[in-house]
Amino acid sequence: MVTLNLCDINEIKPLLARHGFHFSKSLGQNFLIESWVPRDIAEASGAGAGTGVLEIGPGIGPLTTELARRADRVAAVELDRDLLPILAETLAPFPNAAVIPGDVMKLDLAALVSEHFGGLTPMVCANLPYNITTPVLTLLLECGLFSAVTVMIQKEVAQRICAAPGSKDYGAFTLLCQYYAKTELLFDVPRECFLPQPKVTSAVVRLTCQEPPACVHDRALFFRLVRAAFNLRRKTLLNALSAAGLSPDKDALARAMARAGLPADVRGERLSLEQFARLADELKAPL
Ligand code: SAM
Repeated sequence: MVTLNLCDINEIKPLLARHGFHFSKSLGQNFLIESWVPRDIAEASGAGAGTGVLEIGPGIGPLTTELARRADRVAAVELDRDLLPILAETLAPFPNAAVIPGDVMKLDLAALVSEHFGGLTPMVCANLPYNITTPVLTLLLECGLFSAVTVMIQKEVAQRICAAPGSKDYGAFTLLCQYYAKTELLFDVPRECFLPQPKVTSAVVRLTCQEPPACVHDRALFFRLVRAAFNLRRKTLLNALSAAGLSPDKDALARAMARAGLPADVRGERLSLEQFARLADELKAPL
């Protein structure tokens, strides 16, 4: 069986033309055309013996084939039905790769993992469609099914995921990701590596999932505080929390902040995860 080079533009264009395929902007279709990119992403993902990899949006399969060479099993979820006949052709040499037609946001991921990855360590690796980056990452982290999530996304979002307290990129999404995972910004991927070219630079991040931080005792209150702090990030933390109705009594809020060792005029964007956790504890403590 002939294996196509799925990143060679001279092979991709006739393949797509033969199947009458047209790119869909709304599905975030930017296909890789530089073979070092899927190779390095697959390598960074930790896919190997004993692993089962969920890929979201295989396109014509350049990353899928790299993953199938490394992992025991690959399950690739693709929403665009027009890509299914192409994938049937390009993945034919890889019997350990299964294509699952559908929308990743609507799938029963637990059922998928038990059906496809029994006895294996489940992980995620993908060149994500840009339009669903934040909701799909939230879903993948909150479901608690995967040991790691390695994805290519817009560089701007990658920087937010890995940001440090006090930086302009630090926000509620940073804290959500860092609550569930150790985050690493691995490498940039220039626009020229895609067909068609996106408007922005991309980057690869690895989120290695972890036990929830021991310092967070009330997860719901912790995330309420975080959301309130960043909803009004230009205001002081005290005003932002008060506006969000976190306590009917602003003085009680101020006292809780003081007990947590926070200056009265601090902004939420300066607080580490541990400081948000401590403040949640102080807000709950009997006054
Ligand atoms: N993996 C391929 C590559 O690197 O060349 C294609 C990546 S392209 C950025 C994103 C892919 O995700 C497309 O194939 C698109 O059809 C698919 N897609 C978009 N929304 C999806 C969804 N909700 N669920 C599953 N796949 C989706």
